[in-house]
Amino acid sequence: MLRRLLLNASDSPRARHFTENSRMARPLVSRFIAGDSLEAALPAVRELVQDRYVSLDHLGEFTTDDSIVRDAVTLYTDVLDKLADDGIADRVELSVKLSSLGSALTRDAFPATLAAAQEICAAADAAGTCVTVDMEGAGTTDLTLSVVRALRRDFPKTGLVLQAHLRRTESDCREIANSGTRVRLCKGAYQHPADAVYSTREEVRESFRRCLSILVSSDTYPMVATHDPVLIDFAASLAARTKCGRGDFEYQMFYGIRPAEQVRLAAEGAKVRVYVPFGTEWYPYFMRRLAEHPSNLFFLLRGEGPA
Ligand SMILES: Cc1cc2nc3c(=O)[nH]c(=O)nc-3n(C[C@H](O)[C@H](O)[C@H](O)COP(=O)(O)OP(=O)(O)OC[C@H]3O[C@@H](n4cnc5c(N)ncnc54)[C@H](O)[C@@H]3O)c2cc1C
Repeated sequence: MLRRLLLNASDSPRARHFTENSRMARPLVSRFIAGDSLEAALPAVRELVQDRYVSLDHLGEFTTDDSIVRDAVTLYTDVLDKLADDGIADRVELSVKLSSLGSALTRDAFPATLAAAQEICAAADAAGTCVTVDMEGAGTTDLTLSVVRALRRDFPKTGLVLQAHLRRTESDCREIANSGTRVRLCKGAYQHPADAVYSTREEVRESFRRCLSILVSSDTYPMVATHDPVLIDFAASLAARTKCGRGDFEYQMFYGIRPAEQVRLAAEGAKVRVYVPFGTEWYPYFMRRLAEHPSNLFFLLRGEGPA
């Protein structure tokens, strides 16, 4: 119930205005967002790549304005130049939302969105890294999968994201099982129609386990995106059973969430990637993080970041 309210609030201009201007929200925002600009986020990225990898996300979604799309493409290419100058491009990939590239995820916008995504993938490739295309909300799955399929023709390292809370995802996993795709498997952070998703926590975990088992026994490169200790243990024992080594899969977690667990896994020799968002358009991302853990509201109301 609270989760749904918070997800609804992520689309509300009034709630957005209130939160963006609230001084109380700042400590929690800075816990989840690495900075308003690349310059502000870079110190955190440089520190993380000492023992982990990074996926950088320039915050922004649901744009239909061409000039904003051009700015996003230019920004990503500038980011890649900067990473290459710093000598860390091989440890930092990009996470890109198609809705930030003007699509609003409709069929009509497919060619323009694909062209913008291709430009970013080409720049990433030239810098020695790659892109993972985030998965978004209801009605976007098929179009996102088609864009990634098209991108992979020229840029085969382009990754996609599958959401285990969707009933269809197990079948999507089987469909891509022998395509050599990099696949980030997560639970899913967006609202979908009730009949499209599993409703209980345990059903979602079960789906995650089934999907991960399919991915691990295929030629995909699984990226296990969860902070859930039960699923992290499952992934570790599945990897041990199937003799998956360090180069065969990776764990992924969000910046600011379970950092000690990230360090522990990396110290044990696992490959760990941290999803690092930056930029001024943090509101929808921030609200999804609140919705995942409404207990964060407690910290927000006290004007604190969680301990
Ligand atoms: C790298 C990465 C990329 C992602 N990309 C996408 C995507 O493209 N599309 C999409 O729909 N979803 C994406 N997600 C979000 C994902 O779908 C889940 O909503 C999110 O990870 C929370 O689920 P969980 O598996 O961590 O389990 P949970 O059961 O939610 O969390 C397990 C534990 O982790 C900690 N924790 C988790 N989230 C929070 C939080 N917000 N605040 C405080 N503590 C927390 C708590 O200790 C909690 O008990 C991504 C997640 C990660 C880590």
